[in-house]
Amino acid sequence: TTQNRIINVSNRLPVKLAKEGGTLSFHPSEGGLATGLNSLLDSYESLWIGWPGAVVEDAKKQEVKDYLMNQSLFPVFLNQEEVDKFYEGFSNETLWPLFHYFPTYSIYKEDYWEAYVKANRKFADAVISMAQPDDIIWIHDYQLMLVPSMIREVLPDVRIGYFQHIPFPDFEIFRSLPWKTELIEGILGADIIGFQTDEDVRYFIRTIEKVLGKPCTEDGLTIGNRSVVVKSFPISIDYGKFRSLATHENTLLNVSRIKNIIHTKIALSVDRLDYSKGIIQRLKAFDLFLSRYKNWHQKVTLIHIIVPSRDTVSNYKELKTEMDQLVSCINGKYASLGWQPIHHYYQSFDPYMLSAFYQCADLAIVTPLRDGMNLVSKEYIACNINKNGVLLLGEAAGAANELHDALLLNPNNSDEFARKIYEGLNISSEEKQKRMSRMQQVIADADIFKWANSFISKLLSIVTDRSKKT
Ligand code: UDP
Repeated sequence: TTQNRIINVSNRLPVKLAKEGGTLSFHPSEGGLATGLNSLLDSYESLWIGWPGAVVEDAKKQEVKDYLMNQSLFPVFLNQEEVDKFYEGFSNETLWPLFHYFPTYSIYKEDYWEAYVKANRKFADAVISMAQPDDIIWIHDYQLMLVPSMIREVLPDVRIGYFQHIPFPDFEIFRSLPWKTELIEGILGADIIGFQTDEDVRYFIRTIEKVLGKPCTEDGLTIGNRSVVVKSFPISIDYGKFRSLATHENTLLNVSRIKNIIHTKIALSVDRLDYSKGIIQRLKAFDLFLSRYKNWHQKVTLIHIIVPSRDTVSNYKELKTEMDQLVSCINGKYASLGWQPIHHYYQSFDPYMLSAFYQCADLAIVTPLRDGMNLVSKEYIACNINKNGVLLLGEAAGAANELHDALLLNPNNSDEFARKIYEGLNISSEEKQKRMSRMQQVIADADIFKWANSFISKLLSIVTDRSKKT
């Protein structure tokens, strides 16, 4: 029997290409997405199309391609200008801020847009050159919104899915884009359009109606003889992997090292440096908490982990400066001999250390202003094997729709925020156990494998309907 093949298309391939001197080296990057998609490999063949993550000079392209093709990875090469204008530019300075409700950060530039169209064409051409009629094509995220229609024009019958990992905004926000019609028509080349939450789905449907003047129901719409389904598929983590990571000897060694050094309760935050993560709001709330609840001085330490990201871009640079100042100001104000309220790390940690931090944290403070899903919250729950932790979660994270046993809050409300830090630290151990068990069950039942499977099954089922109709 011949297997169906899934072609994944994402901006980045699941590898890190590094240039050391004149030589190229590759490191697999085990992202959650790769894990989820690899789980489909038992049932499907696969090919992954995307950018290898570095600009490759012409003379090296064939070598890179051969190497990657050995692992069923197909590179789309981007030159420096494309990286600057398509990826850093339109994707990260136009779409990212707008879709996370930072409209004033969005930059509208015609040459960014032109680069976006050209780069999307490159990805689409790569897919078209590789695709067979029976393939299932799964396109990922906001960098590639035009790719579904570009493929559809050439391969009208092929099965195409699009999943957006970041939020989809309300129409009132989306309409600011000079290219709103092109982007919507681009996505609508897919048979199934997936988002993280039902709210994203609703906003998308309303946007279709407003932009195209066409009715669209809760389930989707019809374009010609094609039905397009719009549905939420909340992404998740490899729950089993994080569970075994939490009991790995390296992790346990780190746990005892942490406990030997920090003798207070531990509050933990883990985020990429990004304005959507609510880093400043959290620091201000922690400051307020310490000023109000003096009995907690010397009894709690905030492990503040910020993974470096894009800190040469001005918005990010300013955020970093403000963060650094606040951390130092709070530490200066409250520290005493033998106690520093915030342990600040601007670096990333290996999985054994990260998992140890998750395990030791009495309180995880995960409070983005807006987040597509937020995997850190789910990883914390999976690694908290002793069920003695509490999750403080921003209500505008996608994960808030599933994790009802977290303490939810609006990170802009610093009064409520400070109070919830206090409440979180005072929850009884029975209550903690109960809440944590329920949240662990939620994630165990809806892990990354289930996510990938349900998307692909849905794609297969609607396209079967289409072939029945014709
Ligand atoms: N992470 C990491 N190293 C670190 C800290 C975090 O690899 O030192 C990972 C973390 O495990 C999680 C991801 O970074 O899987 C962050 O994902 P999330 O959905 O929370 O936010 P994003 O950065 O995608 O906006």
